[in-house]
Amino acid sequence: MPDPALIKQLEAAVAANWDRQVAWLQTLVRFPSVRGKEGPCQDWLAREMASRGWSVDRYTLSEVQMDHLPGFSPVMDTDYKQAVQVVGTVRSPEQRGKSLIIQGHVDVVPPGPEEMWQFPPFDPVISGEWMNGRGAHDMKQGVAAMFFAMDALRTAGLAPASDVYIQTVTEEECTGNGALSTLARGYRADAALIPEPTAATLTRGHVGVMWFRLRIRGVPVHVAVADTGTNAIMSAYKLLNELYDLTAKINAKAKDHPLFAAMNNPVKFNPGIIRGGDWGSSTPAWCEVDCRIGLLEGTTLAEARQQVLDTVAQAARGDSFLANNPPEVIWNGFQADGFHLPPGTDAENTLAATHQAVYGEPLKSHVSTGVADVRAYLNYYAIPALCYGPKGEGAHAFDERAHLPSLKQNTLAIAAFIAEWCGTRPA
Ligand SMILES: [Zn+2]
Repeated sequence: MPDPALIKQLEAAVAANWDRQVAWLQTLVRFPSVRGKEGPCQDWLAREMASRGWSVDRYTLSEVQMDHLPGFSPVMDTDYKQAVQVVGTVRSPEQRGKSLIIQGHVDVVPPGPEEMWQFPPFDPVISGEWMNGRGAHDMKQGVAAMFFAMDALRTAGLAPASDVYIQTVTEEECTGNGALSTLARGYRADAALIPEPTAATLTRGHVGVMWFRLRIRGVPVHVAVADTGTNAIMSAYKLLNELYDLTAKINAKAKDHPLFAAMNNPVKFNPGIIRGGDWGSSTPAWCEVDCRIGLLEGTTLAEARQQVLDTVAQAARGDSFLANNPPEVIWNGFQADGFHLPPGTDAENTLAATHQAVYGEPLKSHVSTGVADVRAYLNYYAIPALCYGPKGEGAHAFDERAHLPSLKQNTLAIAAFIAEWCGTRPA
């Protein structure tokens, strides 16, 4: 059990650094770190690590060979020379406790039409207990918790007594290749902690996710004789409905799944981006739809991909044009399988004890219908991976916001976890 005196000491340290932490998070949210544009944000974080005396490994995904690794997701249209990853290492002269990876992603999803936001997405406004802004909640507040948990130890005159790797990655929202790159580069530890915004609960499991692009052709004719041509956009619409039906079938089977039985429709399908056609008075000759579909933990990616291919092929067979011009399915982005953290790991037990000491109540767990980077550490490298972080709301939505009092308490919980897991020595 954590020493109550240590918790008190760390609590005072978090409080002493709190104003600085809030300002720091604001600076972090000001970087519009959408996919492909994370570089300046990561460069700033690399400097923040260096200024703390951590040794910094900064590289881009183009420098890492990983397309042969399990967990790799294929990408198109993205320049990995711009995908900067940063690992800060705090080495301990002796390993008296256990080593730890603390990881957070800095990529954020696009804000959408900015006039729909009450507060500007990249100019974080604090209103009451909340900080607004794209990424404030998912998951830049978690990144702030990582840095300031480490700062709290130092303010308390302590350093971890085992190696700690503080990693800021990209590509969490689309492939997971940022997390995978740190593993490909050789970083290992006895546990990994990812402070995604889980409202101080532990992620017991999550679904898998696949991204694919549907590419459909049509025969363009003047709309005046539309029945002599075909319409690729309407063909796409038909295929999407078949994929919704497939999703409903998968969800019907989820009723006896060990993780998801209690949840209604854990597997979601989403056509997320659509493009197509060239002219208002021509039937569209092409249409592309970027899609996301979930899969149940326990289903392999190969099985899930086959279900999608079969569904598309079957729908195409029922259409005289598509039967001869089969739609293409291009796997482009997430090929992420599900995650199930077995109960009772040392890492979870330590987190449960520190959570209890800080929050005064037992650690609860949840299952998620989205993916997180934890899968890479546990599924392919057998590193127990804890997804546990502060609270907020509006992930991927307008007016996303972080709850600051929750961030403060969670920063303390993470500091206490680091102290317990890694042990401490005088700074
Ligand atoms: Zn996230």
